[in-house]
Amino acid sequence: CGIVGYIGERDTKNILLDGLRKLEYRGYDSAGIAVMNVDGVHVFKEKGRIAALDDHVDHKVAATMGIGHTRWATHGEPTHYNAHPHQSVSERFTLVHNGVIENYEKLKREYLVDAQLQSDTDTEVVVQLIETFVQKGSAVEEAFRHTLSLLHGSYAIALIDNQDSNTIYVGKNKSPLLVGLGNGFNVIASDAMAMIKETDQFVELMDEEIVIVRRDSYVIKNLEGNIQVRAPYTAELDASDIEKGTYP
Ligand code: GLU
Repeated sequence: CGIVGYIGERDTKNILLDGLRKLEYRGYDSAGIAVMNVDGVHVFKEKGRIAALDDHVDHKVAATMGIGHTRWATHGEPTHYNAHPHQSVSERFTLVHNGVIENYEKLKREYLVDAQLQSDTDTEVVVQLIETFVQKGSAVEEAFRHTLSLLHGSYAIALIDNQDSNTIYVGKNKSPLLVGLGNGFNVIASDAMAMIKETDQFVELMDEEIVIVRRDSYVIKNLEGNIQVRAPYTAELDASDIEKGTYP
């Protein structure tokens, strides 16, 4: 399973699909992408292979930001409706997640008794919680940090807000996630290999950190909202080996 994301100036569909193909070695049963443009957020997801997803994507939709996911089902069968990305009830928020939210049933009982959930996943609770806190008056970043602070378990998460085409929110705990830095764009990936074609400059995240990723900036914070400063490193993968399929 794995996560990718891109925010920049180029069309993002193939960058995401190529990135997901590079993560196939990690195993998965479904895959999906969400891309956002002036018309809103477009979600494409399929049970099965990336090739099936690629066939299903409307390649006429052009968008310069998006997130992608391969799922290894832990909660809920591998079906189309359980595949990620998942959306909040109002469809304002769209989210992908790798990992396991151990307390999702408790969170559902505590905060989401009235919500019409659309999947059997542990993940969907996360996106619904973010929406609930925003509806109660929180800023999106604050709702994101607050939600993550309530989660027990493991997560690598990427979130987009249909009212903000300039930001991807990411967060992680006990699941890998990197931010990759480019000129006029930034990417996210579970593994540098997924985005090494775009950049070799990556920033590692620590557990219980979020990053506010924009086209020309990234800001790391802990869940209390304090800024964390961390320089990028140069990923030592050989892009030509990866192209030839000889890595790993
Ligand atoms: N627990 C989530 C699910 O079953 C995410 C699984 C994964 O890591 O892909 O949908």
